[in-house]
Amino acid sequence: MLGKNWFEILDKLYNWVRLRRNIVIALSVIFLISAGVFSVKALAVNNESSLEDDMTEAFFTYFDGQKIGLVKDKGDIEKVLEGIKRGFESLYNMEVTLENDIDFERVYVDEQYLSDPEVLESLIQSNVSPRVKCAVIQVNGENLAVLKDSETARFILDSLLQPFKEKIESKGGSLEEIDFEEDVNIKDLFVRYEELEDPDEVVQRFTQGNTEKRIYIVEKGDNIWTIAQKHDMTVKDILEANAPMEESDILQIGQELNLNVPELPLNVITVEKVEHTKSIPFETETKKSDDLYTNQTKVAQEGKEGECQIVEKVYKRNGVETERETISETVKKEPVKKIVLVGTKKPPKKVSSSRSGSSSSSSGISMSWPTRGRITSRFGRRWGRMHKGLDIANDRGTPIYAARSGTVCYSGYNGGYGNLVRIDHGSGIETYYAHLSSRSVKKGQKVKKGQLIGYMGNTGNSTGPHLHFEVRINGTPKNPLNYLK
Ligand SMILES: [Zn+2]
Repeated sequence: MLGKNWFEILDKLYNWVRLRRNIVIALSVIFLISAGVFSVKALAVNNESSLEDDMTEAFFTYFDGQKIGLVKDKGDIEKVLEGIKRGFESLYNMEVTLENDIDFERVYVDEQYLSDPEVLESLIQSNVSPRVKCAVIQVNGENLAVLKDSETARFILDSLLQPFKEKIESKGGSLEEIDFEEDVNIKDLFVRYEELEDPDEVVQRFTQGNTEKRIYIVEKGDNIWTIAQKHDMTVKDILEANAPMEESDILQIGQELNLNVPELPLNVITVEKVEHTKSIPFETETKKSDDLYTNQTKVAQEGKEGECQIVEKVYKRNGVETERETISETVKKEPVKKIVLVGTKKPPKKVSSSRSGSSSSSSGISMSWPTRGRITSRFGRRWGRMHKGLDIANDRGTPIYAARSGTVCYSGYNGGYGNLVRIDHGSGIETYYAHLSSRSVKKGQKVKKGQLIGYMGNTGNSTGPHLHFEVRINGTPKNPLNYLK
């Protein structure tokens, strides 16, 4: 009874295997026919004791879920795969992995139905999916570039930082920190060989972004400020579009400037330490003197500016300053107070028109505003010191105009005044334009009222771009607001 039952089960298995075999044949056709015909006698049983004498253990081989052949030894398939893998590795000269699922199913068959190893190998060869081990540059978790290896990826990232490093060093600053603003990682990844990118193209993409280039060719007489003005841009835009570039860089005629600020996938943040000296203005003290008449003054001691050593941390994004922090201020030379003696003696009667009585003369002199902006400091005493002019603040590069016609009597760099232009208007009237980012006039040049003489800046003893404008009459600073119309 038991024996009969057993035979019925075997019979069912038998039919099942035959059905499977038909499916396998169909698949093999799709796969380029190989594998041979599987035995009608093949039995998928695990119980070896029930085998006939000519049955042997074998394995159906599944390739990505498709049955492709029948082998006696699983190791043969593994050897085939290993050989193919090594072939691709020597072709690409890179680590390769085959992204295919190989599965086996144990069966017992007549040996004549085993697949032809060569056919099986070429079948696998033509269907494998090799993947090469590469390095991806991830920016904020997103894969932005696929490179051959991590050295190449690292080299590209370094080459993006290098120009900023060199710029800072060439300007005498000491680089404290340099990094990308974004979260950047290099990770291993297996990809199709065709997905690898050309390093040069990657660098180009990272340095130029997807923004269309708009080029301006520098002409004679151009500077960053005039170019910015001409194109309705800020100086900062120009610097950012041509990073790493600095306001003080000298432009060459014929040089190409980019006018579009690119949207970049990677942005470079630097922190540098800079040292410079700053002049400390002197105070002026007046003392009464019985030896002088009330309309007389005398300088008893000349004032001398002091000197201060300043160490600052400068933060930049793509070469453009974003923040500045003072680390230390060391006084190297104390300023020397200017002492002016003012007479107390009554003057003798009817001394005709003394030079110092100039307060009423202001009404006759008219000047136009030298620039546009916000008044940030007026003439007069300020924090215990005399402020000899009027401060007008606006963006760096804002044009500065002559307040009145005259002759340029000074155009140069002058200590705490930074870039300074002085104009002599005759009759002892002189105007000062200080802290300029650049000067457009030369000493001895005649200028008309309203003529461009330079651009607003932050040079000398200045915190933030502004114009320090002075009016002097016979050398004495006067309140500019009394003359501006
Ligand atoms: Zn000022």
